[in-house]
Amino acid sequence: MPELPEVETVMKGLQPFLSGAEIIGLEVRSPQLRIPIPARKLKVLMGVPIVKLERRAKYILIHFANEKTMIVHLGMTGSFTVYPPKKQADILLDRHDHLVITTDKNVKIIYRDPRRFGMIDVVDTDKMSSYKPLQILGPEPLDKNFTASVLKANLSNRKIAIKVAIMDQKVVVGVGNIYASEALFLAGISPTTQANEVTDQKLALLVDKIKFILKAAIKSGGSTLRDYRNVGGEGGYFQFKFSVYDREGEACPVCDCSIEKTGGIRRIVQAGRSTFFCKTCQT
Ligand SMILES: [Zn+2]
Repeated sequence: MPELPEVETVMKGLQPFLSGAEIIGLEVRSPQLRIPIPARKLKVLMGVPIVKLERRAKYILIHFANEKTMIVHLGMTGSFTVYPPKKQADILLDRHDHLVITTDKNVKIIYRDPRRFGMIDVVDTDKMSSYKPLQILGPEPLDKNFTASVLKANLSNRKIAIKVAIMDQKVVVGVGNIYASEALFLAGISPTTQANEVTDQKLALLVDKIKFILKAAIKSGGSTLRDYRNVGGEGGYFQFKFSVYDREGEACPVCDCSIEKTGGIRRIVQAGRSTFFCKTCQT
């Protein structure tokens, strides 16, 4: 499932093809996504220059000059592939290709989503903050306003495990399952500690490590798990090496605990999701 770094990578990949361009063709081939693609609403975007693209949590926001914004969520398996004119002979559409966008530069951009949990919608740009899915969102982790005191305030009264809490979009957005395990490992915090009992010192470290891990993942082009593809249709670079995620039973990369004695990296299930951690390093 694409997480924040993958969505950032997709947004940045689309930017050079969409920013300043106009859409001259919008073909909804199959509207069935989590919410059906609103083909009629999309028509207001035709022939209107695109002002800019940005990301909010795991949403890609494409702002148009007529004060409309296209909101895209990639769900579990959503992806965009960009076809410049010379590559368009390679296009072979099938039932998983939901939307074909053509720009005034004759670039084709295809939205594909085999599991169909994605979402495409159009809203008034000035009403975006009251759009329901965006309304509930907490702070952006890479924003400089996301600090230890903000995190502490958002965790007060939260009597749930810190791992579960930092994955709550109301606490901070975009810290998915992989990055939650990794950030807690780097900050030396046990994933089962009650959220409102993590010390101020450790919360400050956690904020730093969340920012660090997300920036590192963005730099490597997203971690690219399973179905995720970047906009060039390429798989990931796999430059990003996880410390604990998906490494149950392996030796911890930091401490010298022997696997025989401690069992190495553990896997537990919290709120239905796997958590990976080192019992020695994380307290
Ligand atoms: Zn360790």
